Amino acid sequence: MRHIFFAERQAAKLDDGTARPVTRVAILGAGTMGGGIAMSFAAAGMPVTLIDTDDAAIQRGLDRIRGNYATSVQRGSISATEAERRLGRIATATDRAAAADADLVIEAVFEDLALKQEIFRDLEAICRTDTVLATNTSALDVDAIAAALAHPGRFVGMHFFSPANVMKLCEVVRAAATDADTLATAMATAKQIAKVPVVSGNCDGFIGNRMVAKRSAQAERLLQEGALPQDVDAAIRAFGFPMGPLQTNDMSGLDIGYAIRKRRGTKFHIADAIVESGRLGQKTGAGYYRYEPGSRAPLPDPDTARVIEETSAALGIERREIAQDEMIERMIFALVNEGAKIVAEGIAARPSDVDVVWAHGYGFPRWRGGPLAYADETGLAHIVARLDAFAQTSGDETLAPAPLLRELAETGSSFAQWQKDRA
Ligand code: NAD
Repeated sequence: MRHIFFAERQAAKLDDGTARPVTRVAILGAGTMGGGIAMSFAAAGMPVTLIDTDDAAIQRGLDRIRGNYATSVQRGSISATEAERRLGRIATATDRAAAADADLVIEAVFEDLALKQEIFRDLEAICRTDTVLATNTSALDVDAIAAALAHPGRFVGMHFFSPANVMKLCEVVRAAATDADTLATAMATAKQIAKVPVVSGNCDGFIGNRMVAKRSAQAERLLQEGALPQDVDAAIRAFGFPMGPLQTNDMSGLDIGYAIRKRRGTKFHIADAIVESGRLGQKTGAGYYRYEPGSRAPLPDPDTARVIEETSAALGIERREIAQDEMIERMIFALVNEGAKIVAEGIAARPSDVDVVWAHGYGFPRWRGGPLAYADETGLAHIVARLDAFAQTSGDETLAPAPLLRELAETGSSFAQWQKDRA
């Protein structure tokens, strides 16, 4: 807990750049994310203008925001007067020209590169030259978006997490051309609205989702080798996460990951078979689990078990009983391994930044300090030995220890020591 406390403060510090004052904010896209981001500004007392393409989209967005406030009032977390006050800070528009006097514009429209490029090109014509232009993309290459801008120095990623009015993490993504003042402005604004900002370099998935992908790959392999969804999720919960990865996927919709895998040309045999059988998660009443009508409680599903067992058989894998400890180690050490690559590449400025991302965006048990602090405590030599063994027995080369992890283990060092040496 103490580690995360100091790590958060360290993550927020930048070596250079001066934040410009931000008092007027426009958000493009009044969907799930745009609405949640607008609520975060309203909660901090800052007025925002929410822009979407037509009145119907604005209405849908406002209805969702009102619904969220109504729930908060019902729960007693804010008063009805406070909810009204916050709602009053959210103006709406259907014309992008409403962003003209903004100090910061955050784009949260559909995940479509050409659309985002067109929007930023237009925003450059509409806004002042010192307006910071930010994208909330989670999976697009920020440099590809920046390529559309004449002045990409003022462009940056601000990757919020869902639900954006609740989740604390904001990955501030530095594109190749992002200038120091723009980065400082995005960091300062995130802090102003009570978020925990962490700088990330540009790579597929940034810090958090790039690591998640490695845990998901292990979850898939565990299913292929003998586990059932409830076993995989129970292992992650036993480690201390509030929710398992497969239950989480059921909540967000299995079609999202499926579309990303299709785009990347990767195959998860079991996850793909589940989607292809028409099970998309909670919204269709079945995914890795089944759901009673109107309930969000995941129930073990014999039909899913059959799909899983058939897939293992088709892959020629003889299913076996997998101990919970092995499941935990494979999924958690896969995170550690990718985290080591991320700090070695400079995508994260320091190991403790990776810990902050995981504590605030992914429910990593805070008392364990985040994946890399946990790795230090567990002992890097033990982790390297286990990863070597897993890579060898499973034939999964992605589990081979990262060079930095191996080097730290062999020299009896730690992520914390490495960070201190480079400070
Ligand atoms: P969404 O579909 O809920 O909302 C998108 C909104 O953008 C819609 O209201 C749509 O009408 C609007 N829109 C489309 N074209 C527009 C235009 N030209 N001008 C103005 N508005 C336009 O999507 P979402 O889940 O809120 O995602 C938005 C962005 O945030 C995407 O880039 C997504 O990758 C990213 N993101 C999503 C999540 C998540 O969990 N949903 C998390 C982090 C980041």
